[in-house]
Amino acid sequence: MALKLHNTLQRDKGLQEFVPLDPQKKKVGMYCCGPTVYDFAHIGNWRTFVFADLVRRTLEFSGYDVTHVMNITDVEDKIIKRVREQKTTLREFTGKFETAFLDDLKALGCREPHQKPRATEHIAEIIALIEKLVARGVAYKAADGSVYFSIEKYRGCGCCYGQLLKLNLDEMRAGERVASDEYEKESVADFALWKARVPEDGEVFWPSPFGEGRPGWHIECSAMSIKALGETFDLHLGGEDLKFPHHEDEIAQSEGATGKPFVKFWLHGAHLLVEGKKMSKSLGNFFTLRDLLAKGFTGREVRYLLLTAHYRETFNFTLDGLAGAKSALGRIDECVGKLREIAGGTTAAPNTKLAEQFSAALADDLNISAAWAVVFEWVRETNKRIADSSLSANDAAAALAAWEKVDSVLGVGAKAEAEAPAEILALAEARSAAKKAKDFKRSDAIRDELKAKGWVIDDTPKGIKLRKL
Ligand code: AMP
Ligand code: ZN
Repeated sequence: MALKLHNTLQRDKGLQEFVPLDPQKKKVGMYCCGPTVYDFAHIGNWRTFVFADLVRRTLEFSGYDVTHVMNITDVEDKIIKRVREQKTTLREFTGKFETAFLDDLKALGCREPHQKPRATEHIAEIIALIEKLVARGVAYKAADGSVYFSIEKYRGCGCCYGQLLKLNLDEMRAGERVASDEYEKESVADFALWKARVPEDGEVFWPSPFGEGRPGWHIECSAMSIKALGETFDLHLGGEDLKFPHHEDEIAQSEGATGKPFVKFWLHGAHLLVEGKKMSKSLGNFFTLRDLLAKGFTGREVRYLLLTAHYRETFNFTLDGLAGAKSALGRIDECVGKLREIAGGTTAAPNTKLAEQFSAALADDLNISAAWAVVFEWVRETNKRIADSSLSANDAAAALAAWEKVDSVLGVGAKAEAEAPAEILALAEARSAAKKAKDFKRSDAIRDELKAKGWVIDDTPKGIKLRKL
């Protein structure tokens, strides 16, 4: 089924069928703006990264060969401020938050991006890109020693600034500049590509043909994405707050330097509110993943909850919602656990119905609510058949295989119980033989031996079951 997505470049023109640039229609290049590693990522940030993981998994499920790139922003205004305040080095400061971010990404069941470029390791590429922009006449060095992107010159070349959202460029005053990495829509102005070294930067600077300094945030993403995926690539993602200025500036820098279209599809995830409010430390609703784990929730539960709402809808995250996630996952786990019991060791090709309905839901701009409805209807029907004892081992194995296919996108399934090693299986068989021969002394001795090796044997109406202690 053709995958249709809401491409921000198309604004209100409705959904657009996703067709990769690759002439073979197989390879897909996908870039998601990564974390700014100046603190632990909060639950809002995680909504965006789990959304990116859903996009990647959906594309892989659809048979595409995806290269997923997520940068690490390890030099930027907020980082430099904290490095200065904490009297530490850039690498030491960003390193601990980068490690924490990657640990959390794993805890949330996200597939690791294939490439995780760091801005500080791409200074040469950044400088080369700025040089191109200067050579093409769309960037200039100002009296403060910094290099700025000229929106007027860029538009003068027939290029469009304001592709992702409508900007009132007529109100722009020529020559106005903005040096900070983040600014409001009202301040459309020339933005910094290279920031000249100032005393507050401390030791955070690099030499360049424009003088000592450091890159602006926006140019980092243009340089890293072009290096990893080429001058034109398929998909670029991020939270909706990044549309302006960050993504608009990425387009201007990239298209200004290469003269080619930068990205075919732009996807933006809506923001997350917590208990109905914008997250803030003073409101006490600012959660990191670690805060939620400390309250006894699991990464799987958080992932489930973040995946319950459509990516273009604002989502209200609540602790009650997380408790609900626990019970919803419990229903799936129970059903899948019973299927495993009935299937025993039997394997079978997946049933097609579940996966077909599920992928039809996702093909409609990742309609996750419809996809969950398909899953829970399947749980209900499967439970009914389990209760009727109308599932053979083969039926159960086919149902399990279908669930595993669907879960390759959702990523919330509990792992099957650990397989017992051959030595344990042999002991279990010897115990069954001893019991059959009514040699209870031997069967008890084997049970004790298994226990000493960390395994418990349960006698159930359907035979024995091995459990790890
Ligand atoms: P940052 O580390 O601040 O650069 O943000 C990383 C990602 O999280 C970006 O794609 C942001 O758009 C996204 N983001 C920030 N706040 C929220 C929020 N409240 N809800 C959803 N995404 C967010
Ligand atoms: Zn970016």
